[in-house]
Amino acid sequence: MIAEVIVDITNSMVDKIFDYYASEDVTVGQRVIVPFGKRNIQGFVINLKQETTVDEEKLKNIISTVDDYPLILPEHIEIMHFMVKKYHLRFVDCLRLFIPAQLRSENVKPLVKTYIIVSGDPQKFKKTVRSNAKNLLALCEYIKPNQSYLKSELVSKFTQSAVSKLIENGILRQEKIEEKRTPPSIDIQCQKHKLTPLQQRAVDEIISDNSISLLFGVTGSGKTEVYMSVIEKVVQNGKNAIMLVPEISLTPQVLSNFRARFGNNVAILHSGLSVGERFDEWRRVLFGEAHIVVGARSAIFAPVKNLGVIIIDEEHETSYISESNPRYNTLHIAKFRSEYNNCPLVLASATPDIASYQKALSGEYKLLELPKRINDKPMPKIQIVDMLSEIRNGNTGMFSSALLFELDKCIKEKHQAMLFINRRGYSSFMRCTNCGYVAKCTDCDVTLVYHKKEDKLKCHYCGKRFKALTICPQCKSTAIRNGAIGTEQVVSALKEMYKDVPIFQMDNDTTRTKNAYQRILSEFGKSKPGILVGTQMIAKGHDFSDVTLVGIIDADQSLYHTDYKSTEKTFELITQMSGRAGRDKVEGKVILQTYAPRHYAYRFIANYDYKSFFDKELNIRKNTMFPPFTTILRLLFSSQNEEIVRETTKLCYNDIKHLRDEYLEDFVYLDAMKSPIRKIKNNIRYQILMRIKHTHENEIIDKIYKICDKYNKVSVFVEIDPQNLS
Ligand code: ADP
Ligand code: ZN
Ligand code: ZN
Repeated sequence: MIAEVIVDITNSMVDKIFDYYASEDVTVGQRVIVPFGKRNIQGFVINLKQETTVDEEKLKNIISTVDDYPLILPEHIEIMHFMVKKYHLRFVDCLRLFIPAQLRSENVKPLVKTYIIVSGDPQKFKKTVRSNAKNLLALCEYIKPNQSYLKSELVSKFTQSAVSKLIENGILRQEKIEEKRTPPSIDIQCQKHKLTPLQQRAVDEIISDNSISLLFGVTGSGKTEVYMSVIEKVVQNGKNAIMLVPEISLTPQVLSNFRARFGNNVAILHSGLSVGERFDEWRRVLFGEAHIVVGARSAIFAPVKNLGVIIIDEEHETSYISESNPRYNTLHIAKFRSEYNNCPLVLASATPDIASYQKALSGEYKLLELPKRINDKPMPKIQIVDMLSEIRNGNTGMFSSALLFELDKCIKEKHQAMLFINRRGYSSFMRCTNCGYVAKCTDCDVTLVYHKKEDKLKCHYCGKRFKALTICPQCKSTAIRNGAIGTEQVVSALKEMYKDVPIFQMDNDTTRTKNAYQRILSEFGKSKPGILVGTQMIAKGHDFSDVTLVGIIDADQSLYHTDYKSTEKTFELITQMSGRAGRDKVEGKVILQTYAPRHYAYRFIANYDYKSFFDKELNIRKNTMFPPFTTILRLLFSSQNEEIVRETTKLCYNDIKHLRDEYLEDFVYLDAMKSPIRKIKNNIRYQILMRIKHTHENEIIDKIYKICDKYNKVSVFVEIDPQNLS
C-alpha cells in the first residue's frame, strides 16, 4: 500500500504531501516515523492508496508507527484540505490546530500511577516473618486484604524491600492505572430549570433539523439553559456536542455549571489549562470518554466524532477570528463540520453580528428570539449624560453629577457597582499640551502607551520601553499630560471618595498572572458594597446578582476608532455592559457618559432597539459598500528593506489592476499605500487594500493567491475581512 504523509516540520518551506510504502496495519490519521532526507522525522498519514506516480526506486518505507490508534479523524483531514484551499495555508500549520503541541513534541506523557493491591493474607504471612524485620512486620499490620494502596505511599512508609518481599510472596500485586488530570472547577449545585415556552420552542426548533439557527436573546433571557437542554437531547441520542465560548467568558463558574449538569461527560479545552490537563482532556475526547466539549475558539478542532450539535455563544465576538497564522474564521470551520456531520449549528448573541442578523432575516439562518429576560425582569434603564454640559456647569472631573449621585446611593444601599472604561482602540498616551507633541515608538511609529505603575512608556507592538516624558523634546515645555482616562485614574479617584469600600481594578495590567482574573472576580462577588472598575473584560457574561449600577465613563472612545465596525462594536459593548446590571431582585441602572449625546448609536442603545440600529447601520453599509455587502481584502507586504517592499507592492498592485479589469463589476475599491503602522520590529509595511462584491469572490481570491505566490522576496499576507487594519 502507498501512504500519503504530511511531514511534521515547522519553520521550513516544505509543505508537500509525500508518498511512502506502508504495511497493511497502517491506518489513515496515524502518526508515523518516515525517512526524510538524511533524518527520520514524524509525519501523519492522510491517505492510503494503491498506486503512485513516484518512481519505485525513490519510494521509501514508513519506518514505524508511533501510536496504535489514529490521532487525526478522517473529518479533520477534510477540514485541512478545506482550510489549505480557502485560506491559502500550509498543511503543517493546520496540523497544529488538530493536535496539541505537547503531544507532537512528546513533552507530555499520560500520568500513570502504580497501585498495590492486597491479593493474599498479610496476617498469615506475618507469622512467618522474623521479629527483627520491623518494616516488614509493620507493613503486614498496615495493609488490609482486598484493599489497594498507592505504591509510592507504601514504599515511603515501609521501604522498597519490604514491599518487594510481599510482592515476591504473592501477598501484593502491582497494577498500573492511568490517572486523568482534570481542570479544576468549583462545587456548585446544578439547578435545572423548567424551560419557559419560548426556551422550549427554541430547543425544539434547533434539534428539529440540521439548519443554522441564530438564537437572538437579550442578556439574562436564559440562553445558557437552552444550550444545556439541546446538548442533553443530543447526548441522549448517542451523539456529541461542541460548545464554544469566548476565552474571557470561560470562567470556572461557567465550566462548573456544565460539570454540575453533565459530570465527567464534559471535556474542557482552553489556553488556561496546564499542559497535562489539556493532553488528558483532548485524549478523553478522542477516545470517546467525554461526549461534550466546552472550550474557546480552538475547541472547534476537537477530535469529536459523530457530532450532533455545535453551539457558538456570543457569536459576534471578534475573538472567534484568528488573526495570526494559521488565520481562520471559526464560523467557517463550524459550518464545514455541521455540514459534514449533518447536524445543527447554533449561533447565539444578545447583539448579533450585523452579517448574521442579515442572514437570519433573509432566511439563510433560522431566527429564534428570546426578547425578554427570565421572569419578565426589566432591562436596566440607560440614562445618557452629556459631558459637555457637565463642563459648562463647572464639573471638569471624570464623573458626572448623575453618576456620583447613583454611586452614592448604590454604596449606601450596600449594592455593587461596575464602572466600565472603554478601551477599545484607545490608549493612554503622553502629550505636550503646549505644542501637541505625542510620544511615539522609534521602531514602530505607533503611539506609546503610558503605564503609571512603572512610570514608563511602552510600545504595544514591539514591547520596547521608554522613559516617561517630563520635558517636551520638541518645545521644552513641561506641560506634559497623560492623554486620557485610564482604569488606574478612576480607581485612585474612587479610593479618595470611598475610603472604606473595596475597589477592584480589572484590565490587562492586573490580570497578567494566572488566576488573577478569577481572584478579582470572586473577591468582588463577596464585597457588598463593592466597586469593580475595568475594561471590556468586565462586560461579558458575568452574573453578579447584586450589581445595581453600571457606569460607562467615556462611551465614545470606541466610536471614533478608525474602523468601519466601530459603531456596531460600540452598540455591542455598551449593550453587553448594561446587561450586567439588575440581574436579580433589585432593578438596575446604567449611566452612559458621552461627549456626543445625539449620536444615533446611543439613542438605539438606550431603547434596547437592536432592530432599528441594524436597519440604520445596514443602510450605511450599503451606501458605502462595506461588509456585509462586500469583502475587504488586505495584502500586507513587509521586509526590512524598504526599497524591496515598495517595489514588490507596486508590481503586485499592477497585477491586481489587471485582475480588476477582468472583474470590473466586482471591484468596489482598490488602492496601494503604506500601512497605518509603518514599521513593526524594524519591518517596513506596505499594503494593498480592496473591497470586492461577493458575486465572484472565491474566483477572485484564488487568483489573488496565485498572484501573491509570485512575490517571495518579502513576506506577503493575504487577509480576508481583517478585524484590524493597523
Ligand atoms: P443569558 O445567557 O441569556 O444572559 P442566563 O442563561 O444566564 O441568560 O439566564 C439568566 C438567569 O435566569 C440565570 O440565573 C438562570 O439560572 C435563570 N434561568 C434560566 N432559565 C430559567 C427558567 N426556565 N426558569 C427560571 N430561571 C431561569
Ligand atoms: Zn511641546
Ligand atoms: Zn515599537
